[in-house]
Amino acid sequence: MANTDVQVTVIGGGAVGRATAWQLAKEGIKVRVVDSGEPRFGTSMANAGWVAPSHIIPFAAPGMVSMGVKELVKRSGAFGVSPAAGPSLASWTLKFMRACTMEHVDRNAPALNELLQRSMGLFDDLIVNHGLRRTEKALYYIFSSDRAEELAHEEHDLFTDHGVATKLVDVESARSDLPILKDSVKAVLELTTDYGIDPRRFVNLLGELNTGSGVEYRTGETVKNVVHRADLVHVTTDKDSWTSDYVVLAAGTWSGEIAKMVGSSLSIIAAKGHSVTLPNMTNMPDRPMMLAEQRLATNPEANGYRMSTGFALTSNNDRSINHKAIDKLYATASQVLHLPERAANIEPWTGLRPASPDGLPYIGPLANAPRVITATGHGMIGNMLALGTGAVVADMVQERPISGEMLKFSPSRPSA
Ligand SMILES: Cc1cc2nc3c(=O)[nH]c(=O)nc-3n(C[C@H](O)[C@H](O)[C@H](O)COP(=O)(O)OP(=O)(O)OC[C@H]3O[C@@H](n4cnc5c(N)ncnc54)[C@H](O)[C@@H]3O)c2cc1C
Repeated sequence: MANTDVQVTVIGGGAVGRATAWQLAKEGIKVRVVDSGEPRFGTSMANAGWVAPSHIIPFAAPGMVSMGVKELVKRSGAFGVSPAAGPSLASWTLKFMRACTMEHVDRNAPALNELLQRSMGLFDDLIVNHGLRRTEKALYYIFSSDRAEELAHEEHDLFTDHGVATKLVDVESARSDLPILKDSVKAVLELTTDYGIDPRRFVNLLGELNTGSGVEYRTGETVKNVVHRADLVHVTTDKDSWTSDYVVLAAGTWSGEIAKMVGSSLSIIAAKGHSVTLPNMTNMPDRPMMLAEQRLATNPEANGYRMSTGFALTSNNDRSINHKAIDKLYATASQVLHLPERAANIEPWTGLRPASPDGLPYIGPLANAPRVITATGHGMIGNMLALGTGAVVADMVQERPISGEMLKFSPSRPSA
């Protein structure tokens, strides 16, 4: 390593940045994490909290384009495009449409599976050795439309074909276990390996582990420039400047603007979602659930029962809470769940997913700035992939061999 101020600067202190800092610090590497704080900070904190190794199918998959168009026409709130999305929307959408093929799924599902499995091993370590709590019970997919049984069987077969453990559950016994379920529920599928965590506890725990491992954490400081040299990287913030051997780019949906500073481009768009958290629920389920036709994710968390939905392409600055979207979320969930009267004390929240057009994360060095390693673009699955991503980045920094599957996440891949 060169004679620099810190060995690795991690830009971004969300789940991915913190998990990466932890993996690096465990190996004795001197790490500085810099995060701009509010209003950018927070997407990793109040999401649906699923840890779902079943998620091996990239978001860009056959059927997603027609699903997106249908949801737009129905104005269901599950999918949307905001006028704020800006000029990058057109090229992102084109790349997304091109990636929605079975070939893309077959090629990349093994890579996502490997990254998920690596994350799962590290989640086990956090649960067993560091006190992270998980739901004891596995994720349920809940079906309630006229085609419920058919859809549940289709999902079951699809998951089974990809080696994911699922089982169809008797609806009556699901209802007696979970009094929150209404009579409208017609089919239930268990995703046996998937569970829920509290994302805020996860991110805070990573922060504590980092502090204990000597990571320097700077918040309220925004990176303004990055200059790449052959043997080091200069980082300038609004408060300071320093040199590093490597920079890890984990700035969520803002990562594109930092890539630009070193003359690279990363296709990332902000995909906004909303959640509400209902405190003091007497009938809170003890497992996460997906309301399949409503496209709504739920999870019992420390502060209450969280329900999340929505994937609206928008700008990086759009953290505003859309109260109509919150009303719709509540009404949609009520089709399937016995919820208390809509109370004033529900906690509404919004977050911006860093979405790549092909549904895969960017993990690897930038082609024209190889000392800048990307760890971003995780879209809907950033918390569950954070630990595995950090481990792969640590392999890269330590110049250990990288598997062929992990090389598929290179930011220079053709589909991105
Ligand atoms: C409604 C909803 C539900 C979700 N449910 C799940 C789920 O169940 N499971 C799951 O795995 N994922 C889920 N996700 C996705 C997950 O939240 C994201 O993929 C993940 O949070 C991305 O983490 P990140 O660290 O890459 O980005 P972020 O958490 O956005 O962190 C990036 C950080 O970079 C900082 N930053 C930006 N620019 C700069 C700069 N110039 N200088 C310094 N710092 C900077 C920001 O302050 C920010 O803190 C959900 C998302 C939403 C919105």
